[in-house]
Amino acid sequence: MGKVKTVWEDCDILVVGGGMAGTGAAYEARYWGRDMKIVCAEKANIDRSGAVAQGLYAINCYMGMQWDENQPEDHVRYARNDLMGLVREDLAFDMARHVDSAVHKFEEWGLPIMRNKETGRYQREGKWQIMIHGESYKPIVAEAARNSADKIYNRIMVTHLLMDESKENRVGGAVGFNCRTGDFHVFRAKAVIVGAGGASHIFKPRSVGEGMGRTWYAPWSSGSAYALPIEVGAKMTQMENRIVLTRFKDGYGPVGAYFLHLKTYTQNTYGEEYESKWYEHTKAMVGEYIDHTPTPTCLRNHAFIEEVKAGRGPIHMVTMEAFQDPHLEEVGWENFLGMTVGQAVVWASQDIDPKYINPELTTSEPYVMGSHATCSGAWVSGPEDISPPEYYWGYNRMLTVDGLFGAGDTVGGTAHKFSSGSFTEGRIAAKAAVKYILDLGDEKVVVNNKQCEDLKEVIYKPLENYTVGRNEITAGTVSPSYLLPIQGLQRLEKIMDEYVGGISVNYMTNENLLKRGIELLGILQEDLEHIGAEDLHQLMRAWELKHRTLTSECVAQHTLFREETRWPGYYYRGDHMKLDDDNWHCLTLSHRDPKTGEWTMEKAPLYHIVDDKEDSQ
Ligand SMILES: Cc1cc2nc3c(=O)[nH]c(=O)nc-3n(C[C@H](O)[C@H](O)[C@H](O)COP(=O)(O)OP(=O)(O)OC[C@H]3O[C@@H](n4cnc5c(N)ncnc54)[C@H](O)[C@@H]3O)c2cc1C
Repeated sequence: MGKVKTVWEDCDILVVGGGMAGTGAAYEARYWGRDMKIVCAEKANIDRSGAVAQGLYAINCYMGMQWDENQPEDHVRYARNDLMGLVREDLAFDMARHVDSAVHKFEEWGLPIMRNKETGRYQREGKWQIMIHGESYKPIVAEAARNSADKIYNRIMVTHLLMDESKENRVGGAVGFNCRTGDFHVFRAKAVIVGAGGASHIFKPRSVGEGMGRTWYAPWSSGSAYALPIEVGAKMTQMENRIVLTRFKDGYGPVGAYFLHLKTYTQNTYGEEYESKWYEHTKAMVGEYIDHTPTPTCLRNHAFIEEVKAGRGPIHMVTMEAFQDPHLEEVGWENFLGMTVGQAVVWASQDIDPKYINPELTTSEPYVMGSHATCSGAWVSGPEDISPPEYYWGYNRMLTVDGLFGAGDTVGGTAHKFSSGSFTEGRIAAKAAVKYILDLGDEKVVVNNKQCEDLKEVIYKPLENYTVGRNEITAGTVSPSYLLPIQGLQRLEKIMDEYVGGISVNYMTNENLLKRGIELLGILQEDLEHIGAEDLHQLMRAWELKHRTLTSECVAQHTLFREETRWPGYYYRGDHMKLDDDNWHCLTLSHRDPKTGEWTMEKAPLYHIVDDKEDSQ
């Protein structure tokens, strides 16, 4: 490794990932930490990185408190209902009470938000969404982060967190490498905020072969937000709560604006409404949750999946009526141009004009995330003023590792934050991180060179594996000495798909399947010691795969632990096909021992902080 240059950076706050949460964190850290050194390390380029890279057409989380449209309590009720009762209400409330101010900042910084001409208020798409001309959403928030941070390092793939050597269980920074120059980067920091996005490509996607790479969640979301903390022993929560989306077929185009704004609706292949048919069946599984309004997303998925299994697919979105109105037709197309151009291209290539043909919908492969409509992520402390003792340990959004904070997809238990809520959570975490550093006073965080040098050896090993093993290539890319990232990725996706409840088994799993899946993931991890990378890009792929695999192991462990089918439509435990509130109205927690790799699972109590008087809104 002698040839690789090492770049050292000592700072107060390191932000890992400059997506929505990361940019919010960098911005707010400067506000509270005027004299602190704030650095951000991003795998891509913050101008166009993360799940918002391509732009958005709506901000999905805005209360509208200035017009008394919604209050934070309403949002907690909404998220709780959608997640079949299980959210961290303290975190959800905390985000909701601050989110509007973040949206007002976006507008101040130049984001065009549509206005309702009659009321002068923001144009609503649904109860929580407001419509934007959001093609430049990401560059706008990136500019705010750039103006706030001392330094933004683009093209740095963070691979490991560093630990303080003077105090147990305290973070000391992070390391990674530059995907373009190959330089090794060491960031020694007093506090680290992880905002590294969710996880796609851990389950086999529907788009394979010529469509490979097309996924609903960003393909570059590689689970680093989970793997980095898991590896240093941070507790995780609700990792079983993967999400499955009903989306336009083959392009994964969004349906929100279609349902909410264009008022389109679904039907089976015979032109029939089908959701009501599955009412009794679903009620037998989940009881009164099926009577909630709005119907929880997973239960609507469930009706879709059952209808297709019954042989009455495909399910279509009825667009032919709405598209007769020229204004709605324009909105329908613009919706894709602002955020999923690929869907328009797919329709063009398949001769689908939604004015004359009702396009097909499908349910996606599962994804793991904590900011969209599900709750997977790290177990963090809540805010001092509302969190019960089990949810509070000193600093808001701090993980169970001292000095390590999270925001956005990283944080578990708090769904429906979306872009605005993730940015807001980044701000909340940064404010707490500044306080944490101030409280440290003169106390030093110690990271010795040896820790960094040892990791350097590990990080670049795939390049060495390739260099040595390529002499033994037997055919094309096949070598007896290494496996390539794409080969490992496909093996991972197959294991997760077949054993942990992916598309090819209609999201079904059980105890024995999960146990075997976990064994196979263990074997994969052994083999990943022999992964080969032919260049720096493949080195990034290698580390993304390692992060995805660790994330997957955590998902499988959680799925095994929760012995019920809590969210039919997201996944099914065939051996426990009912929702079981008596035993499982709780949150699940995992801890992986960093030394042994052993997992321990436990239940955490679920506190309802907000009353449910308006649950049937
Ligand atoms: C298809 C789609 C549609 C959506 N639609 C909407 C919508 O209409 N409205 C809405 O409000 N929200 C929407 N969202 C949700 C919103 O995009 C997310 O909630 C939000 O981006 C999450 O913020 P985050 O910071 O956690 O993750 P991201 O914004 O994804 O940022 C993560 C960042 O971490 C970086 N990173 C990852 N790994 C590493 C690593 N190892 N080292 C360094 N950097 C790393 C990534 O490059 C990225 O920049 C949508 C998301 C998707 C995918």
